[in-house]
Amino acid sequence: MIPLSVPNLAGNEWKYIKDCLDTNWVSSVGSYVDRFEQSLAEYTGAGYAVSTSNGTAALHISLMLAGVEAGDHVILPNITFIASANSVKYVNADPVFVDIDKETWQMDLELLEKYMEQHAVVSEGKCTHKQTGKPIRAIMPVHVLGNMCDMDRLLAIAEMYHMAVIEDSTESLGSRYKGKHSGTFGTFGCFSFNGNKIITTGGGGMIVTNDEQLARKAKHLTTQAKSDPFEYVHDEIGYNYRLVNLLAAMGLAQMELLPSFLQRKQEIADMYTSGLSGITDIHLQKENADVTPNHWLFTVRCSRQKELIAHLTKNSIQVRPLWVPMNQLKMFRDSIFVSEHNESDKIYQSALSLPCSTGITNAEIEEVITRIKEVYA
Ligand SMILES: *Cc1c(COP(=O)(O)O)cnc(C)c1O
Repeated sequence: MIPLSVPNLAGNEWKYIKDCLDTNWVSSVGSYVDRFEQSLAEYTGAGYAVSTSNGTAALHISLMLAGVEAGDHVILPNITFIASANSVKYVNADPVFVDIDKETWQMDLELLEKYMEQHAVVSEGKCTHKQTGKPIRAIMPVHVLGNMCDMDRLLAIAEMYHMAVIEDSTESLGSRYKGKHSGTFGTFGCFSFNGNKIITTGGGGMIVTNDEQLARKAKHLTTQAKSDPFEYVHDEIGYNYRLVNLLAAMGLAQMELLPSFLQRKQEIADMYTSGLSGITDIHLQKENADVTPNHWLFTVRCSRQKELIAHLTKNSIQVRPLWVPMNQLKMFRDSIFVSEHNESDKIYQSALSLPCSTGITNAEIEEVITRIKEVYA
C-alpha cells in the first residue's frame, strides 16, 4: 500500500525520547518542552512559542486571548478542517464562513472585501455586523494545504475593520509569504503536530506570538492557570492543554529534520506536477508569487474524482477528498456563508489528495502517476 501521508521518524526521535525515559522527565515539565518551544520560535521568527496538547487547543486559547467573546463573529474560510470552526464555537462565537478563491483555494479576499463593505459598520474602533448586530471581532486565515493568501491584503482588511488576526497555520509549518513565516503575521499563529502534518509529535500544537505578555498568558491558561509555584492557587479557569516532555522530545527531533522534509515535499510536488502535466483535466493549486509553500499535502482537482478514487484505492494507493465544506455540516447550516459561486462545493466535488509522505520513493510516485494516467487513457 502507498499511504497518503505518514510520519517520517528518521532522526533523533528515539534518542531524545530515550533520554526522557532514562532521566524520568516524561511529563508536563522538562527541558525538551523549553527546547522545542525555542526551536519553533527561532525557526518561524516569532518572539515567543508556547506548546499545547494539539493544534485545536492552540486555536482555542488564541481566540480567547485575542479577546473573542461569546456572541462575537469570527471570519474564516469555508474550506478548512473542522477544528478551525470548532475552536470558534468553543469561545461561543459565531463563524462567518467565506468561500474560497478557486485558484489558490484560500479565503477569497475579493469576496470578503465586498461583503465587509456591505455588511460591516465601524464605529469607535469596533466593527459590527449590520444585520446580526454582533461584533466582528477576529479573522482566522487558514493556510490551506500549506499555501497562503495575499497576506498584505488580508492584514489591510483586518486593520480597516479592527479585527484581530489569528492564523490557523496548522498545515503551513515551513510556508512563507514574502519571506516571512506563516503564523507570524497575526496576533497569534497556531501550529499542529498531528500524525499527518509535516512534522509530528504524535499529537501536539504550538502557539506563536510576538507579544511577551500574551505568550505568558497563553502559558498560564494552558497550564491550569496556577499562580503560585508551590501552593495550588489558581487565579482563573485554566486548561490542561500542555504538551508533555516526551512528545516535545520527539518534536525537537522532528524540527531537526524539517529542512530535509521541505526539500523532499518540493521534489514530490515537482514530480507530480511534471508527471501529470499532460492531463488537461487535472488542475493544481495555484501559488501567489509572494508565497513559498511547504507543499504539505499534494492535492489536485479534476472532473473524474470518483473514478480516480475508485481506481487508485483498488490499486492500494491511499487518496482522500478534501473536507466537507463547513456550511454543509449540520452544526453550521445556519451560520453565515459568504459566497457567489459556491466554489467550496466545487472543490469538494473535485479535489483529491495524493500520497506524499516525505518517505515516499520516486518509484511510488511514478506508480501513482501511471495509475492516474490509466483512468485517462
Ligand atoms: C490539523 C488541523 C488542525 C488541528 O490540529 P490538531 O493538532 O489535530 O488539533 C486545525 N486546523 C487545520 C486546518 C488542520 O489541518
